Amino acid sequence: MVVFDLAKVTVQDIEVGGKRVLVRVDFNVPLIGGEVKDDTRIREALPTIRYLLNHGAKVILASHLGRPKGEVKAELRLDPVAGRLSELLNEPVIKLDQVVGDSVAAAVATLKYGAVLLLENVRFEKGEEKNDPQMSRQLAELADLYVNDAFGTAHRAHASTVGVADFLPAVAGLLMIKEIETLTRCIDNPGRPLVAILGGAKVSDKMNVIRRFLQLADWLLIGGGMANTFLAAQGCALGDSLVESERIAEAKKMLEDSAKSRCRILLPEDLLITREIKADSPYRIIGDGAVEEGWKAVDIGPGTATRYSRIVSEAQMIIWNGPLGVYEVPPFHRGTETLARAVARSDAYSVVGGGDVVAALESLGLSGEISFISTGGGATLEFWEGRELPGIKILQEK
Ligand code: ADP
Ligand code: MG
Repeated sequence: MVVFDLAKVTVQDIEVGGKRVLVRVDFNVPLIGGEVKDDTRIREALPTIRYLLNHGAKVILASHLGRPKGEVKAELRLDPVAGRLSELLNEPVIKLDQVVGDSVAAAVATLKYGAVLLLENVRFEKGEEKNDPQMSRQLAELADLYVNDAFGTAHRAHASTVGVADFLPAVAGLLMIKEIETLTRCIDNPGRPLVAILGGAKVSDKMNVIRRFLQLADWLLIGGGMANTFLAAQGCALGDSLVESERIAEAKKMLEDSAKSRCRILLPEDLLITREIKADSPYRIIGDGAVEEGWKAVDIGPGTATRYSRIVSEAQMIIWNGPLGVYEVPPFHRGTETLARAVARSDAYSVVGGGDVVAALESLGLSGEISFISTGGGATLEFWEGRELPGIKILQEK
């Protein structure tokens, strides 16, 4: 088992005054009609930015947004992000239209200490996702120090998350440290009973996390599309449900192994099924797991939701990734909602990670009731799997 080294050097451990500091942030926020729809990730980056500004650094921010794949896409420019950041910081934010190059170097040269600028979307550059050393060097030349505060992108080895550290001293930002400490606490020193809730579309994305939680947790509650593959492994007919047939054998082995582990793994005892995934489409609840042809399981049933909620109510710590049904399409959000309310009511320390489950909690207005919401999706999962994330590995140790 990998033991995470918490002893990363942070911005607070070194002198930052009078330095040009390149900060990789994760401003990959949802935009709708050119407006920032959810500014959580921007707000989470404020402590590091404010710290650097207050200590007299020149702050050069870099982020990606969406998947422009090395090309300039007008709708993925960071101008709306700069606008929102400026409002939140209550400071002017200079927004550049380039990521690297002479105009960027000139803008950095004239930037005052204690002021901030934002580079253009780093993924407009072909070198970013290739972790091209030339791009890393160009970014590094802008600064004296590199700070990685982009936990949500720490599982990607890109020029602005990893390569740049070949050319500059690299330290952790405050959000990065908060994520590492909190997520580590869940796995190194959990409150017990530790209840892990895992849902989402595909079991194949999450096999390693399931394996890990089977060793760590006291209860593993499975729902969402991934539950179907486990039910298939128990011999249930699933009709037209999402099932990953190439994973059934592996799922079966996991269920067998769980008999030997401390963890009790629970599968849905009833399912909500429909013919069509569309709002208010007619549905049925079935109790024996046999889904007819033409029907698909799209949510856990109410019996399962009640049983899972009871287990959650006795937890000391809760870890949750992935919604338990097709929460985007009502009424198939109900299983997720019931569990979300149980987690919100519970006194346990609750940690939630994953783009969709966080979106579900937001839409239910319950995210404020969760002890810690990770800014990572894939990064959080890989962290829990026990993998060393490349964007963390490159940070200096104390
Ligand atoms: P997260 O982002 O929280 O990690 P995932 O991305 O793994 O979650 O999965 C979210 C997706 O899973 C949602 O789009 C949801 O509609 C889908 N999903 C959940 N349950 C089912 C199901 N029974 N059948 C098909 N898709 C499902
Ligand atoms: Mg997702």
